[in-house]
Amino acid sequence: MSNSEASLSALDEQGLRAEIVRLNKVIQALMDRAERAGGSNGSDFDRFQTTVIWEELVERRTQELAKALRENEKINRALREAEQKFHSVLDQSLVGITMMVEDSFHYVNLKFAGIIGYSVDEILRMRPTDIADGCDESFVRETTRLLAGETEQISFVTDAKRKDGQVITVEVSGNSSVSIAGKRVLIAVWVDITERLRNERAVQLLQEQLREQATRDPLTGLYNRLFLNENLARELLQAKRLGQSISVVMADLDHFKAINDRHGHLAGDEALKHFAAIMKRYSRGSDISCRYGGEEFFWVLPNTTEATAYERANELRMAIAAESVFFNCASITITASFGVAAYPAGGMTCRELIASADAALYMAKYAGRNQVRCISECFTTETGADTSI
Ligand code: GH3
Ligand code: MG
Ligand code: MG
Repeated sequence: MSNSEASLSALDEQGLRAEIVRLNKVIQALMDRAERAGGSNGSDFDRFQTTVIWEELVERRTQELAKALRENEKINRALREAEQKFHSVLDQSLVGITMMVEDSFHYVNLKFAGIIGYSVDEILRMRPTDIADGCDESFVRETTRLLAGETEQISFVTDAKRKDGQVITVEVSGNSSVSIAGKRVLIAVWVDITERLRNERAVQLLQEQLREQATRDPLTGLYNRLFLNENLARELLQAKRLGQSISVVMADLDHFKAINDRHGHLAGDEALKHFAAIMKRYSRGSDISCRYGGEEFFWVLPNTTEATAYERANELRMAIAAESVFFNCASITITASFGVAAYPAGGMTCRELIASADAALYMAKYAGRNQVRCISECFTTETGADTSI
């Protein structure tokens, strides 16, 4: 391709057509002038020669221009095809893609339109900040930073408002490495993470529920033995570190088999729930209340001496004895026996403390039930003797 062709091919189609018209006019004017001049002085041969030269010139120039025009059309067609291919690739993208120049959208793909719920044409008439309207400010803050040249890359999570008013959460990452006509262009990739976040929260909730189920007794809602084993060790360690005492209380319902036998198993269940409800009522935030086994309960009282644990166990014992269980019109009175042990005198390890509380409970049963006994044998309560173990 010659230089003139190259420069011509750079002209646009409209420019080339105008050039042809203009040159034709110039040539025609020159031919007219030559004809007028020749009419007075030149010979017929001279006029013929001039005409042939002009015609050749016109022919050559017209061919050059036509060729340049064809080149130009080819380039434009190739450009249009490339652009269409590029856009169709972008439209198939699984992520939203936008190009923003200053405070307007220059290009958005179909996926972005789907995320935001507006048509592409509607979005091209909107300002980027319109979609963050009423949501958090990270979008405005981050794009401003980027367009001001404070950073080349941005990545943030923000809320966006869809056309239907629904607020969604999007993850945006962008850069401004391209510029159009001297203006910085923000190319951003948008991913709608609303569903992903919802699923993550659901999974988290499910995990919490599973954890809760794994550590709770379903009948009474108290912690189970698994939880006790894991947490008593932690509480004991804490007590040792802080130089505090910690007490444990083992409780067992009295003659519970007889309650089952007389009122039925469901009544027995109701009695267990009743005991647990009162136990919760008498518990403090730092206490751990557990169902240890069938009709056995365990109380961990951090930062509590044996004497105080005795007081609290005795209050619980009195409340249990005072409040009857109602089941199928029957009023059932239950009592429980309690054994108390405290670190350090009652044991240095979890196993020792539990064994001490169990031994104290045995003493309470042996001494007549419905009473509290401490492993140190310091305290007792007076009740009617019932030593049938
Ligand atoms: P003691 O005063 O010596 O503790 O006598 P007890 O009858 O309470 O003790 P025993 O060990 O003889 O009986 C405990 C009963 O608790 C037997 C068992 O059927 C009942 N039990 C254990 N778990 C449950 C439960 O979840 N629901 C019901 N209704 N009964 C239960
Ligand atoms: Mg028992
Ligand atoms: Mg019992």
